[in-house]
Parts: sequence; structure tokens; C-alpha cells
Amino acid sequence: MNLLDYMASHVLAFVLVAGLLGLIVGSFLNVVIHRLPKMLERDWLRQAREMLEPEQPLPEQPVYNLILPHSHCPHCQAEIKPWQNLPLISYALLRGRCGNCRERISPRYPLVELLTAVLSMLVAWQYGFGWAAAGVLLLTWALIALSLIDADTQLLPDAIVLPMLWLGLIANSFGLFTDMHSALWGAVFGYLSLWSVYWLFKLVTGKEGMGYGDFKLLAMLGAWGGWQVLPLTILLSSLVGAILGIIILKARGDSNSTPLPFGPYLAIAGWIAIIWGDEITGTYLRFAGF
Ligand SMILES: [Zn+2]
Repeated sequence: MNLLDYMASHVLAFVLVAGLLGLIVGSFLNVVIHRLPKMLERDWLRQAREMLEPEQPLPEQPVYNLILPHSHCPHCQAEIKPWQNLPLISYALLRGRCGNCRERISPRYPLVELLTAVLSMLVAWQYGFGWAAAGVLLLTWALIALSLIDADTQLLPDAIVLPMLWLGLIANSFGLFTDMHSALWGAVFGYLSLWSVYWLFKLVTGKEGMGYGDFKLLAMLGAWGGWQVLPLTILLSSLVGAILGIIILKARGDSNSTPLPFGPYLAIAGWIAIIWGDEITGTYLRFAGF
């Protein structure tokens, strides 16, 4: 019996493997969350220079991507050695400090690793070994990266959202989560529903409540779960947004700071709606007496 057969017949083994995989992926997500917005910014700057000053030679820039340069301490620039890069373990062994200068390292890194591992285990438990679990694991990892990038920079990079939208449509062309028809209209209505809210809000108040990235994110969620997940996603995101929004504003102590990005709430709500939407709606209908 090989490993794949074993995981297919022993769900706990699969959950454990998903947790370990989640730790490693979480460690990589930390790099994506930190570097992707900087890579995009450099790219936009380069493109703008090319457009505005086509005859000027572009200045040489050191390589900067998801692999290079190797991670280093932001305080003393010392390179982080492979054994210091083990998810969770290194942070615990180093007691949350740089191995070279002893400056504190943000607890966010191990927390992202832990979160990725826990959510990956939940998905493995819910779906069992198979293509559906593989798909939702990818979706989960993408949503973690998108939520934190949006929280940091108010960006939802197309580089993640658009390939994931296509992937959702492709998965559902095989009927993995819903039928192709529902997935296609999920993407269309996902985009159009928030687009309409945006323009209505702008016409009435003159303000911009959200960005185009939010429309694309909901389109992506619709492509994965079908149009059926959209009402619950929007409802849950407003609920999560209102609760977390109040907590964050109270913690900050001022009410007119930068607008809170909507992306993380959409991501959390969409994730719940795709995985447990049927149960939630079923329970609600039973309570409502249908
Ligand atoms: Zn250091």
C-alpha cells in the first residue's frame, strides 16, 4: 500500500499530512505576503518609466522575486539560515528573536504558519482525500495570502485573483464543486453585484466604498462555489465586517482613519460559504420553519 492509498483510506493520516503541508505552505505565504506587493510596485514603476521616458535607459536593479534574495533579518540584514527557517520550530527555538542581533521577530510569521496549518487540516477533515480537497486547499492558501496583502496594502493582486478565478472555472468544468453553468454565472454575478453597489454608493455619497479588486475577488469565489454561494457570502461578509470593523476601530481609538479593506471579510465569508454553505442554509431554513 503506498502513501496515497493509505491517506485515501485513513482520514486522520490525511489530516496530519495536510497540517504539515500547511506549515510549509504558510512559511511560503509569509514570503508572498511580504514580497508580492513590493514586486508589483517595482514593476509598475518600471512600466511608468518606460512609458514616460522611453529614451532613458532603465536603472539597473538588484534581483527581487519570491526566491531571491534569500530572507534576511530586517534589522541587521543577516541572512536567515535554513535551520532558522523551519516553520514554528525555529521561532520557538529562537524565542521570537533574530539569531544574529536578537531583535524581536514579528509573531505574525508563526501565526500565519499556524493558521495555514489549522485551516488546511479543517479542509482535509471536511473533504477527505481527493481532488475536491486539493482544490479547496489551494483556494484556502490563496485566500490567506489575499486577505493579509489587502490588510497591509489595500491591494488584491490580479496575479493571484485571476489565475484562481480561471482555476475555479476549470475545476467546475469537471463538476468538482458545482456545475459549469452555476460557476460561470457565479463569476459574472459576483463581479456585477459589487460593481453595482460600488457605483450606487458612489453616486449617492460621492465616496468609494471598495475597489475593483473586491469585485474580482467575489467573481473568483463565485467561480469556485457557483452563484448559489453569493448571497450567503455577501451577508456573512457584512456581518464579519461590521463586527471586526467595530473591534478594530475601537482598538485604534479613532473613527476617521484609513478605510478598512473589504477583501479579508469577503475572503473569510466566501471560504465559509463554499465549505459549509449548504449546512448553514439548511439549518437556517429548518429554524425558519420551511
Ligand atoms: Zn537581526
